Formats: sequence, structure tokens, C-alpha cells
Amino acid sequence: MNIHEYQGKELLRSYGVAVPNGKVAFTVEEAVEAAKSLGTAVTVVKAQIHAGGRGKAGGVKVAKSLDEVKEYASEILGKTLVTHQTGPSGKEVKRLLIEEGCDIQKEYYIGLVIDRETSQVVMMGSEEGGTEIEEVAEKTPEKIFKEYVDPTVGLQAFQARRLAFNINIPQDQLSKAVKFMLGLYQVFIDKDCSIAEINPLVVTGDGNVMALDAKMNFDSNALFRQKALLEYRDLEEEDPKEIEASKYDLSYISLDGNIGCMVNGAGLAMATMDIIKHYSGDPANFLDVGGGATAEKVTEAFKIILSDQNVKGILVNIFGGIMRCDVIAEGVIEATKQVGLEIPLVVRLEGTNVELGKEALKNSGLNIVAAESMTDAAQKIVSLVQ
Ligand code: GDP
Ligand code: MN
Repeated sequence: MNIHEYQGKELLRSYGVAVPNGKVAFTVEEAVEAAKSLGTAVTVVKAQIHAGGRGKAGGVKVAKSLDEVKEYASEILGKTLVTHQTGPSGKEVKRLLIEEGCDIQKEYYIGLVIDRETSQVVMMGSEEGGTEIEEVAEKTPEKIFKEYVDPTVGLQAFQARRLAFNINIPQDQLSKAVKFMLGLYQVFIDKDCSIAEINPLVVTGDGNVMALDAKMNFDSNALFRQKALLEYRDLEEEDPKEIEASKYDLSYISLDGNIGCMVNGAGLAMATMDIIKHYSGDPANFLDVGGGATAEKVTEAFKIILSDQNVKGILVNIFGGIMRCDVIAEGVIEATKQVGLEIPLVVRLEGTNVELGKEALKNSGLNIVAAESMTDAAQKIVSLVQ
């Protein structure tokens, strides 16, 4: 789960991690009110969307008067920001963060992620803050320093100090930077984060160390024990198809391609996407309907795939183990009855009750292309959508 910058900062603040004062605003009037109550000479108007790269896209503006706050707020609110993280269609700005301006002396980067190779949390730091860290990693990887955290003892002060030292935090700010890093690590652990990225972390003219940006992601599988975080969920920022899928407990991820996939089992779903790609097709989604899906669940899954305007064909690839092939067939038939089917559908069924399933599809009168193997299925759907 993703949250907004202002929410991430609220969380950080509650852990004593330094962030500038700021307020969220949903309208231009609220933006001006917020700036007035902050009462600083300079305020920053920041677009709140679930994507980074806002600065370059015109989503971060420094205002030197209330008139300018008004001007920038009107300009940014309602605007569709296209950044390198939003995709070409962009994201509409519906919230702003109005924040006190700060005198940036230097920008740094601090990020926490889970390293899958070592199964440890890793804190990364760089003195190349403000820019995209991917770019730093590519061009000057020696400028990224890492501290791996032993989960039994957590991030140690000496590690934070070493990292702060490596990224050239000025001597006078070292202890503040250490405090910052330890606090950030604590939030990461307590809240089941999957990413906590501060870019930039800044040292200010008056000697403070604080987070000017905050990108926090949370492990959705841990939300059952992080109920308070659900307050931060902004459904308007999420893909409606993914929201719908989560209601039915379907593992669905929307992608950019045009071949809708309905598969049971995450491994088979991955393999199906791979084989589509292998035959030069492009999957429109990842969808695992699960082992024990009911006809209703399959129907909903099918409807979600069909609601995607980009989908030009569907591949159903089912291995009936716990799942019975006739149940899948029933779901497919029910869904197409409810919403219609105007695009090609290739079905590959194998396993329990496969004959019953094939029979049901055949008798349904639907225009379904039967496939005998994964290769056959992938080749057929790829050629049908072309
Ligand atoms: P992102 O582009 O989505 O990552 O948004 P950021 O919050 O990182 O802002 C982008 C850039 O705007 C930062 O790297 C800063 O240079 C600048 N910026 C953000 N907040 C402030 C601020 O309070 N004062 C000043 N002067 N610049 C800011
Ligand atoms: Mn940033």
C-alpha cells in the first residue's frame, strides 16, 4: 500500500523524525489558510499524488507570498501531472501539501528497503540527493553506501554514524543525522514498510537535518496488524480494477499489455505471462484466481479483465488440481452472459473434470478457441489479438 507524502511525514513526525511543518489542503482556500497559519515568509506548494518525480513535472512550487500560494495552488490542483512514475496518462492532483519553506544547504538520499538476497533490511545513503537514485546507481554506483541490518538487534548507532560519515554529512550535523536514521528505521520496522525513501534528506542553513520528501510503502500482507494505516489509504489513487479484485480476494495486478490472463496459481500465472511474452504478446494483467475459487469468483475475475479497455483478447489457462475445470468453465460462461464477449477468448484447461469443462464451454455457444497446451494457447491468443 502506498500513501501520500504528507501522511508519511505525519508518521515520521510521530516518531520524532524531523520534517518541516506543513498542512494538507484540498482546495485553493484551504491552501491559502494553511500558508497563513504556517506564517513563514516562504511556503512550498506540493502536489500530492502516489508517484514521484513531481518536482520536474511542475508539481512543486516555492511561493514567496500568499498571492503566490493562491496562484500555484490554483495551477496545481486539478492538474494532471505526468511524471516518470505515473505512466503517460498521468495523475490528477486532488490534494496539496502546504509546507514551510526551508533553506536547503545540501540534499542527500536515504532509503530503506528489504534486500531479498540477504533477507535483511538495508539502509542506503548517498550524497547525490534530489536526483533519481536509479540514475546514481547506474552512473556512479560508488556514491551509494549501504548498511545491512541484523534483524535480531536492529540498526545500530555505529552503522548510522558510518553511513552519515560516508555520505559526507557535515561534522556538526552527524548526531542529528544518526537520530534521523534510527527513527526512520524504527518507523520502517514498526509499520511493516516495504519502502521508506527520503529523497531529499536535507541539511538546512540553520543546521537542521530533515526529510523534505517521504515516500513510504507498506506490505499489504501485514495490513491485518496495521489497521491504523488503513486511514491513510486513498482509493482514488489506486487502480479501480485492483480495488475491485481485492474485494473478491483475487490476486490481480494491472499491466500495460492487451492480453487479459485468467490463471490459477501464482506460478502458473507467471509462466503464462512469460510464454505470452515469448511469443511477442503483451499481458494486460497478472491474475491468480487462487486454488479454491468458486464460480462467482471466476465470474468477477472475468468481469474485471473485460472492464479493461486495453484488453483485446483473453487467455484462460487453468490447471485443475484442487480447482475443478468445470467450475472454471461455469464461471467463464456466466461472466460472458452477464457482460458479453466481443473479443477472442482462448481457453486451455487441464486436470480434474477437464472433459466436463470442455463440454460445458462447447455447449455454451460462445465463440471460444480451445487450446491443447500452453504453447498452443499462447500462440493462438497472440495471433488473434494482432
Ligand atoms: P519529487 O520530485 O516528487 O521527488 O518531489 P520532492 O518533494 O523531492 O521535491 C522535489 C524538489 O523540490 C526537491 O529535491 C527540492 O529541491 C525542492 N523542494 C521541495 N521542498 C522544498 C522546500 O521546502 N524548499 C525548497 N527551496 N525547495 C524544495
Ligand atoms: Mn523526492
